[in-house]
Amino acid sequence: MAYDFDLYVIGAGSGGVRAARFAAGFGAKVAVAESRYLGGTCVNVGCVPKKLLVYGAHFADDFEQASGFGWTLGEAQFDWPTLIANKDREINRLNGIYRNLLVNSGVTLHEGHAKIVDPHQVEVNGERFTAKNILIATGGWPQIPEIPGHEHAISSNQAFFLKELPKRVLVVGGGYIAVEFAGIFHGFGAQTTLLYRGEMFLRGFDGSVRKHLQEELTKRGMDLQFNADIERIDKQADGSLKVTLKDGRQLEADCVFYATGRRPMLDNLGLENTGVKLDKKGFVEVDDLYQTAEPSILALGDVIGRVQLTPVALAEGMAVARRLFKPEQYRPVDYKMIPTAVFSLPNIGTVGLTEEEAREAGHEVQIFESRFRPMKLTLTECQERTLMKLVVDAKTDKVLGCHMVGPEAGEIVQGLAIALKAGATKRDFDETIGVHPTAAEEFVTMRTPVAG
Ligand code: FAD
Ligand code: NDP
Repeated sequence: MAYDFDLYVIGAGSGGVRAARFAAGFGAKVAVAESRYLGGTCVNVGCVPKKLLVYGAHFADDFEQASGFGWTLGEAQFDWPTLIANKDREINRLNGIYRNLLVNSGVTLHEGHAKIVDPHQVEVNGERFTAKNILIATGGWPQIPEIPGHEHAISSNQAFFLKELPKRVLVVGGGYIAVEFAGIFHGFGAQTTLLYRGEMFLRGFDGSVRKHLQEELTKRGMDLQFNADIERIDKQADGSLKVTLKDGRQLEADCVFYATGRRPMLDNLGLENTGVKLDKKGFVEVDDLYQTAEPSILALGDVIGRVQLTPVALAEGMAVARRLFKPEQYRPVDYKMIPTAVFSLPNIGTVGLTEEEAREAGHEVQIFESRFRPMKLTLTECQERTLMKLVVDAKTDKVLGCHMVGPEAGEIVQGLAIALKAGATKRDFDETIGVHPTAAEEFVTMRTPVAG
């Protein structure tokens, strides 16, 4: 049967665009449907605008520290609407770049909501298109628990478009988004409280990293409340929010921001017209080749709920395009050693196993840890400390994990990830000459394991 397209991609986000462009480059006839914004979550309401806000928030530190270097500044003024308008302009520019990338690589772009009507057919804006394969790359959506008054809370989707900076913010959650946005609001001067339901935020990160960040955020004056969860939110006559916690305490805020995870975006996608199956958590179930239970339909990125990071969606998009249209170049995505950063202030950068994971996996571990006051801060009043940690297999000498809390941790860990992927040993680290004077050189100068 002749199809309109070899591949019909639903969702022009990180994974969908990558798969579509490369599939078209390999000679396939490809279409992409996008209902909301070109570039998806990362470009519009994720990584990119988030990082711009983090840069903005960091100026508060820079201004404060400048006096130690002899600068006298007037009283700093911050204008949230200017930042948001400038951010919007940049995102518009990126949307245009994504449009050009798709069109110039020969992909047909359909702007509208796509619904699957049968395993080889998609409907967009009332028109139907057939395809040999359909790729679901519809990403995720913020999930807010349905407590009484949840309609008064916002998620990351709205945070990027607030008309003004709230004076008092309650951030709920203990994952990437909660920690990053608490840092953004706090950096811009909002009175910020982070509420996390468990003992210690950032579950899954190395224990030393979690504790170190907790200490640093507390030093900065952020109010961290663990073992705390909201029971209800009530809007008061003056527009402020009264928040009742499960332990009966009451807090007041101008903004309650939920960052409690993301669900797969499957709304009105028409999966009932296919044999696609969902996993226990409701994400699209795929095999190692991103194949769903319906032979003609594939899925990747956040909607499959494996690792919700842009570079992972990109790698999966590449793998799908190659497998379908350039099989001789196919290489599976390696989910081990994925480096990642939390753009909190200070940043976390991490790659490989945490100490806890290494011990659980049966490794006999040696731990190297260094805590120090960065050189840049020595002329300032700032007492922030950096943490660097190596988890090493005592038997093979292989470095199993690198973890950092400190300025530019995300930048530093990218290079370390290459070393770990190449199987570097602690001896390789020791024999590497440092770059002096940097914070990063500490990763090659730690010599004495911590007792334990
Ligand atoms: P998405 O990028 O979400 O793209 C899905 C696209 O599909 C969307 O454009 C959507 O509109 C479209 N769509 C959905 N349904 C339909 C339909 N039926 N028809 C047509 N179109 C449809 N990751 C990092 O690596 N680093 C970071 O710093 C980072 N920061 C983040 C900050 C925030 C606040 C958030 C929310 C996420 C962040 N992420 C970050 C995660 C990253 O954004 C996602 O992992 C990535 O965007 C997933 O790509 P995707 O292609 O799976 O989906
Ligand atoms: P995460 O899954 O990272 O964190 C969700 C947090 O919310 C956890 O602390 C979780 O607690 C808590 N939580 C979940 N449900 C509830 C509930 N019902 N009530 C109270 N607390 C709850 O999700 P995020 O929303 O922070 O981010 C989504 C994903 O996006 C991330 O996992 C990451 O993959 C990606 N991302 C990446 C970034 C980066 O690379 N820098 C930045 C931002 C997002 P518990 O631990 O107890 O389950």
